[in-house]
Amino acid sequence: MTRLHIDWTACDGRGLCAELLPELLAEDDWGYPMARDGSPSPTVPPALEPNAQRAVDRCPALALHLTREAERPSAPTR
Ligand code: SF4
Repeated sequence: MTRLHIDWTACDGRGLCAELLPELLAEDDWGYPMARDGSPSPTVPPALEPNAQRAVDRCPALALHLTREAERPSAPTR
């Protein structure tokens, strides 16, 4: 599972990421990104990972990061 993390201490609220990832992010009244699901670190669906990586690469404040967590293996069945 891939998650998008926003470093609020670094973000300067230009709203570029919300333009690149409108499916995940909206802008608040001041141009700061808000996850549409209300999560502080929204999950990035596989189809949106290229756009999320583009947002990370283009963030002028280096405030975006992607983390990839391994899926927890399911319990064995008998
Ligand atoms: S692109 Fe970066 S600096 Fe701009 S609003 Fe998004 S996180 Fe903040």
